[in-house]
Formats: sequence, structure tokens, C-alpha cells
Amino acid sequence: MSNIKKHAAYMNQFVSLFRCPICDSSMKVTSWKSLVCFKSGHTFDISRHGYVNFLTKPVKSSYRAGLFEARSRLMAEYHFFAPLHQALADLISDRKSEKETLTILDCGCGEGTHLKAVCELLQEKKTVHGIGIDIAKDGILRAAKNIGGKLWAVADVANAPFQDRQFDVILSIFSPSNYAEFHRLLKKDGLVIKVVPQKDYLTELRQVLYADSERRTYSNTPAIERFTTHFQLDHLMRMRYTKTLHQQGVEWLLNMTPLAWSASAENINQFREMKSAQLTVDVDILIGTK
Ligand SMILES: [Zn+2]
Repeated sequence: MSNIKKHAAYMNQFVSLFRCPICDSSMKVTSWKSLVCFKSGHTFDISRHGYVNFLTKPVKSSYRAGLFEARSRLMAEYHFFAPLHQALADLISDRKSEKETLTILDCGCGEGTHLKAVCELLQEKKTVHGIGIDIAKDGILRAAKNIGGKLWAVADVANAPFQDRQFDVILSIFSPSNYAEFHRLLKKDGLVIKVVPQKDYLTELRQVLYADSERRTYSNTPAIERFTTHFQLDHLMRMRYTKTLHQQGVEWLLNMTPLAWSASAENINQFREMKSAQLTVDVDILIGTK
């Protein structure tokens, strides 16, 4: 069986989740190589790595391959977000203890490492179907190449290629949200889980990169207000921990974070020259229901 055929067979198991992003029709897998909509025959090919690109026009993403690689390395070598992943899995597991099977959509999944980690923790107790979408093709390509047993799609969070009310959990981790679309996609008893930075998130990096500007500090109040106008806030949990990074880790961090995009070269170099650094991860985890 060719690779594409294998991916097509896997996708076929979940084909009822999908809907055409152009005409909203349901879809089928044809010739073991494409997803095609029933109504108008709109066709989206399955790539040889197993993901589908649902974008109907090119969309600009500032997130590049280097960022996704840096984030996976930080996760693999420093377990940089491991405490966060454990907290997410525990929160889901507590609230969905009666469910044997969970279908989880990660909106803005990038290279897929957050979704992979959370699913692995939950899989100790449940059957978990993980689906990741992102507008950045570089992220999805990396996810599809490295992480098996999940569905990956290049797609717009504002026009997700899925039927209504399919998901038990929607994750949005450090990523923009489209709450109207989240409402449509979430099951009646589903959970939307958003992770937003708190004021000390990577504060050590901010202090160096933005020593004399307002970007030195950050407030997540507007993000939380926006969330609570769309979903009932079931729980808000602040989580704070520190990790020590050595030189290579510092470099990956600089490659991972959009914070470095608008900093001066001088300030970036000042941080880069550190042999090791303590970094704070400080986030709010918001759990919302319909
Ligand atoms: Zn269609």
C-alpha cells in the first residue's frame, strides 16, 4: 500500500468530521488520494505526508519552519511546556471522566507538539482522536512528518473544514481564536481551553529585549475579557514555573518566540550571549463551556 493510500484509509475513518470549506457540503475520500465534497466536487488532495491543505487562497503566516523546529527542540530536550501539558490533561480528564473517547481539535497547532503531548497523557486512560489545524503550512508539514496517529490540516481557524458540533475539546494555545467558529465546532457539552500568557511569561527575555520600552510588560486582561463574552468561564487557573536553559536552549527560545521579531539586534545578542538563563513560564488556562 502506498503512503498516500495509507493516509487516505486513515482519513476515511474520520471522514464524517469534515465539511467542504467552500460550500459546506459533507465529504468523501475518493480514489484513495483526495477528499472531495458531495455537492460540488471541490477536491483537496492528501499530501504524501498525510495532511490536507484546505486553503482556497494563499494566506500569509509569519510563522516559519525555523520557529516550529525550535519549539519542538525546546520541548524534546528541555520539556519546556511539560508542566503545562500535564495540567491541561488533568483538567480535561477531570471534566470528561465519564467519556471513553475524546475528539480533540487543536486550533493553531503549529508543529503539533502541544497536541501530541496532551493526547499522549490522556491516552493512558482513554481513546483520544487528535486533530490539528494551522494556517502555517510549514508547521503542519512538520507535524505530519513527525507525529503519526493524528489528522493534520492546513486550514483557516476562521473557516475550519469540519461539521458542526464534532469536538469534545478545542485547544487554543498561544494562538489567535475565532470564537464564533469554536461555538459552531464544539459539542453541546464540549470544552474550549485557551492558554494565554500571564504578565511574567518569559519576563527574563522581555527585560532584555525591551529594556526601555512598554513591551517590557504585558497584560492578558483584554484576551480574558474577549473569551468571557463568548463562553461561560468554567475555570481559570494560573500556572507559573521556571526552567533553566543552557546556550542551545537560549538560541531555540529566541527562534521560537515572536517576541524576538521586533527587538533590536543588539538586545537579541545580549540575550544570546548568556551561557544559561532561568525562564519563567507564566500562563492563564481558561476553560469555557457553551
Ligand atoms: Zn464543496
